[in-house]
Amino acid sequence: MMIPYEDLARLNEPFNEAFEIKFKEVVKKGWLILGQEVKDFEAEFAAFHLEEYCVGVANGLDALILSLKALAFPPGSEVIVPSNTYIATILAILHAGHTPVLVEPNISTYNIDPAKIEEAITIKTKAIMVVHLYGKCCDMDPIIAIQKKYSLALIEDCAQAHDAKYKGKLAGTFGDAGCFSFYPTKNLGALGDAGAVICANPDIAAYLKKTRNYGSEVKYHNDIVGYNSRLDEVQAAFLRIKLGHLGAITAHKRKLASLYHQYLKDDFIKPVVGSEYFDVYHIYNIRHKKRDELKAYLLKNEIVTEIHYPVAPHHQKALQGILDPASRFPVSQEIHDTTLSIPCSFCHTEDEILHVIEVLNKF
Ligand SMILES: *Cc1c(COP(=O)(O)O)cnc(C)c1O
Repeated sequence: MMIPYEDLARLNEPFNEAFEIKFKEVVKKGWLILGQEVKDFEAEFAAFHLEEYCVGVANGLDALILSLKALAFPPGSEVIVPSNTYIATILAILHAGHTPVLVEPNISTYNIDPAKIEEAITIKTKAIMVVHLYGKCCDMDPIIAIQKKYSLALIEDCAQAHDAKYKGKLAGTFGDAGCFSFYPTKNLGALGDAGAVICANPDIAAYLKKTRNYGSEVKYHNDIVGYNSRLDEVQAAFLRIKLGHLGAITAHKRKLASLYHQYLKDDFIKPVVGSEYFDVYHIYNIRHKKRDELKAYLLKNEIVTEIHYPVAPHHQKALQGILDPASRFPVSQEIHDTTLSIPCSFCHTEDEILHVIEVLNKF
């Protein structure tokens, strides 16, 4: 029997009945854009983070772009970002009219290396954009120390880090804006595209509310050159249901990860576990020198895996002429060459993971 990397039908199966009831309720009401469900989700997601504001937007990329625009840096400002992030973080900086400055990750945590941030700061640097990759928070204390020292803004890409904590504090609550994606495969996933920003600053929240809706607060009165990036009412309704189960989703993924930690042999480089980190394993990755061979071996044994990510941002065709492909990011390259994401979804059973471990340990 094939073990999928992810199965969204299976993942959402426990919520289907609640989804159907809610769907009928919303359709019957007939208020389909920026209604009570969006308002309620925003209030609940803010409360979950003990944060002042939450503004729902269309997707995670928009959450990043609009947060950057809210901070209104001069055009061409530099924004520091990890060199091994998903391309969305870098695209957001470009779409906001700024220059991404890539900083290498730490080889153990896969997150931006705080020791390498300072040397990347110039007179043009305006912000650090951290990415809590794979569901592990960045090492925030030294990052915040640098942010304060240079009076920079701090934006968090939390697309993979719903419910992740560093020293007991939730991802998204450290900086000026915490940007979330609710893409279906994320730990808190909608049934389509969706995103949100959480923040403590009323001006940022007000800008986001306006700009997501054509720059308008009062219908047909447009104050700024806005966008259409609204969180969908039906998706907000579904997200409210799933937010109520996020704790259970996190616990299940952490349980599966603990099986890998415990039983997977040490030939594979496993994610580090630190007492100050509460990791949510959006992705459970291992590293191995013969990664491609390992992936093929697993597939032959009916276990599907993924690579996050096969191509480093500075080697992407889209970024040619923007990022220098000749620039050297050896740590990032090492991760891209050796990482393999193995099944660790809310849809998987413990028995399935034990089977994956058994097969892996025979490699
Ligand atoms: C998924 C993801 C995004 C983008 O989210 P979308 O909702 O697909 O736009 C941004 N950053 C990271 C790290 C992601 O994993």
